[in-house]
Amino acid sequence: MADEYERILAENGRYSEAFDRSALTAAPLSGVAILACMDARIDVEDALGLRVGDAHIIRNAGGFATQDAIRSLVISQELLGTREILVIAHTGCGLHGADEAAIRGRVKASTGHDTDLVFGAFGDLDAMVREQVRVLRAHPDLLRVPIHGLIYEVETGRLREVP
Ligand code: ZN
Repeated sequence: MADEYERILAENGRYSEAFDRSALTAAPLSGVAILACMDARIDVEDALGLRVGDAHIIRNAGGFATQDAIRSLVISQELLGTREILVIAHTGCGLHGADEAAIRGRVKASTGHDTDLVFGAFGDLDAMVREQVRVLRAHPDLLRVPIHGLIYEVETGRLREVP
């Protein structure tokens, strides 16, 4: 991994030499905040036709409306003016059909610690997305803005709306 870290630092040196985005403002130009899974196969900006500066993108394992994701969405709305939310889950998610107890067992085996984390393993992808949207719509600290649930197909690159 050390080699990869060195490569990243060198790449950033090249990036900063050509940097021309210093005039961007912190408030996203599209007014959209996106909550998405962290899966490495999803290039959220590319897939949605967004450029840097256009949107807030909050990512975690699964794309769940956790307390910390909600904290970021509140900042996004109150301080930076976003007025629409997309929730993006995807096919082939590592948490889809995963066994919560087995994940805990792995953590215990590799760290020796009994974790109290909830990893969010789920069985029904559409139902999981609907639940995240429901949590966000019901949250008292969030504005009543349009919230859309979507599933990104890693096989085709296509986004599908969850009704
Ligand atoms: Zn995922």
